Amino acid sequence: MLNVSAKTASNTLFDGPYYLSIAGKLVETQATFEVMNPATGQVLAHAPAATTEQLDEAVAAAKVAFKTWSALSYDEREQYLLAYADALEAHRDELAVLLTLEQGKPLKTMAEPEVDQSISWIRQIAARRIPVEIVEENDSHIVELHHTPLGVVGAITPWNFPVLLALWKVAPALLTGNTMVIKPSPFTPLTTLRFGQIAQSVLPAGVLSIVSGGNELGPQMTAHPDIAKISFTGSTETGKHVIRSAAGTVKRLTLEMGGNDAAIVMPDADWKSVIPQLFWGAIGNSGQWCVGIKRLYIHRAYHQAFVSAFVEYARQQKLGDGLDPEVTVGPVQNKMQFDKVREFLDDIKARGQKIVLGGEVDESRPGYFIPVTVVDNPPENSKIVQQEQFGPIVPIIVYDDVDDVVARANDSPFGLGGSVWGRDTRAAVAVANRLETGMVWVNEMHTQGVDIPFGGHKQSGVGTEGGHEGRLLFTNPKTVLIKK
Ligand code: NAD
Repeated sequence: MLNVSAKTASNTLFDGPYYLSIAGKLVETQATFEVMNPATGQVLAHAPAATTEQLDEAVAAAKVAFKTWSALSYDEREQYLLAYADALEAHRDELAVLLTLEQGKPLKTMAEPEVDQSISWIRQIAARRIPVEIVEENDSHIVELHHTPLGVVGAITPWNFPVLLALWKVAPALLTGNTMVIKPSPFTPLTTLRFGQIAQSVLPAGVLSIVSGGNELGPQMTAHPDIAKISFTGSTETGKHVIRSAAGTVKRLTLEMGGNDAAIVMPDADWKSVIPQLFWGAIGNSGQWCVGIKRLYIHRAYHQAFVSAFVEYARQQKLGDGLDPEVTVGPVQNKMQFDKVREFLDDIKARGQKIVLGGEVDESRPGYFIPVTVVDNPPENSKIVQQEQFGPIVPIIVYDDVDDVVARANDSPFGLGGSVWGRDTRAAVAVANRLETGMVWVNEMHTQGVDIPFGGHKQSGVGTEGGHEGRLLFTNPKTVLIKK
């Protein structure tokens, strides 16, 4: 077990106080709020609670900074982003430990990769460009399509991947010439406050500001007259509030929201060999994963053997504090989510559904620990199949007919991701093509990249992040028509 107190003593990034970052300065607040360590249920730190005036100051500074930042060339902004990535890398270990402390995820297998991937994304995105296109040219005129930055972008982020999901927004927004104000989730503000603090030593004042506080800051941002776009990641319910509130100022929106992803294991699948991928696809980050497998459909032919092997693999995992190097499954991030996941367990039990692993919460244990729970073949209309559990419970659901399972997978208001697993790749791809989702993986899980669009269909999202398509959404198309 890592000795946190010894580690904190030698690191400046853990210890409070934490500050807002506004106009290039670290700013104190009168009010603070508690941030919990989900592995202990104890207060980890106090985070600054920004006032409406401080949010306004951050937006005003971003608006001023936009004038000079947007006038820089791509090459100049690339240099700033690379310098920022280097500065983050210098604090990589501390950021990762802080991420585990506030979020709960295992340090080596989840937190460090999240920080590393974020830094790598900044570097890779820094090299991307959106050139001016000539869309028409003839003897009399030429038509150019430019992509101009929007202005101040407001980023609103969730608590499941607080570092990655915020920096996914920062890199393309800044590269394309926008400035940004981030509001992290009140459950996990600390890593964001720290990477914001690091930004102030590298980026021009006002280019990237951080305001933490309660949920009430969200609506203030979505209605703010000087914010041009909201890039939001969170639940579908909150996303609907964002849409309504943003209408008043006709903001651009990118919304990454909830999902209920199905994995379909085909009748011909080499299912034994993919159990680890399926397990981690569902239970990675304790199931708090927007594109996590939330419904695992398997064919009746290998039902019993599959469930036994899946449970066997699950039994090898260790639940506990993410700082313990032997732990592979951490706690649920917060009490609210812990209670929500317990409601799923209560519903499963009340309906007499078959729990083949887990299901019992140790009430005497401090922290928000839910054991990995496997439910064998719950009915299609049950809560655990129909709703997003966002916790370490996986329903394994039996199907007989491929057409039927495709219909069941699509019968959802969500359309975020999905996966199909089979020996015959062409047959698996044919099924993948029928899924009504923004992303489908075939015989692999959760592959991502800076040039791969990431986004949901139906009520899972509007627009995409990642990819050229995602970068375009930080710009306005501007058509310039020139008579020769
Ligand atoms: P949430 O919707 O409760 O909160 C997200 C953010 O919105 C937080 O910063 C919160 O403070 C803020 N917020 C709350 N009320 C607001 C309002 N009225 N206006 C504006 N902002 C407001 O979501 P969460 O519980 O933090 O995250 C879990 C959800 O996020 C899950 O549904 C998950 O599927 C989804 N998610 C989606 C993706 C994706 O890429 N599609 C990625 C991660 C998480």
